[in-house]
Amino acid sequence: MSKGTILVVEDESDIEELIRYHLERENYRVLATGSGEEAVKMTKRERPDLVLLDLMLPGMDGLEVCRTLRADSQVRQIPIVMLTARSEEADIVAGLELGADDYVTKPFRPRVLLARLRAVLRRGVGEGERKDEEAPLSYKGLTVDLGRHQVELRGKRVSLTLTEFNILVHLLRSPGRVFTRYQILDRIQGHDSYVLDRTIDVHVAALRKKLGSFGSNIETVRGVGYRLKDA
Ligand code: CA
Repeated sequence: MSKGTILVVEDESDIEELIRYHLERENYRVLATGSGEEAVKMTKRERPDLVLLDLMLPGMDGLEVCRTLRADSQVRQIPIVMLTARSEEADIVAGLELGADDYVTKPFRPRVLLARLRAVLRRGVGEGERKDEEAPLSYKGLTVDLGRHQVELRGKRVSLTLTEFNILVHLLRSPGRVFTRYQILDRIQGHDSYVLDRTIDVHVAALRKKLGSFGSNIETVRGVGYRLKDA
């Protein structure tokens, strides 16, 4: 039985074939194209469960594809994982801010690629806004009571500032997903004014310290931002 349909957008045919081989072996149904324009059409027509999108494409590039898909209410909820060269840090950041869910750098190990895709598929649709009354978040011994703004680590209360609390909640809602500093900032603004871009790093450092050994679950993704290790 198929685990879902993945649209692979990659103009280099050897890489496309390699990805196809690994995905099909894991029982995904694979659609593929090397053209950005075609990728947009196929996404609208076929509604894949995920789009794996190379950023460097002839003609319409990956960022433009990402922007177009995210602007279309019919397909904007379909997860996008970008495929990039390691040197394309600025593009990675731009893509995440356009709404891509995650990225994998080339050359990639098939196991890493598959794990990343699985994590994104598992998170699924409708990550949007949630109510304050939602159930507590828990992750590896950490529990966050959203209504009461309380954090417990292995049963012991941890005292956080409002900004630290908001950053933690934001990361906890999507383990494995990388967020740029700007995305984190955007989420926590309105709660606490005068939080500047670089001060995110200071807040994260303070948060890690308060969480002790658990703090290492918050990973720095160099040049990009932060992510909570996939559980
Ligand atoms: Ca390419």
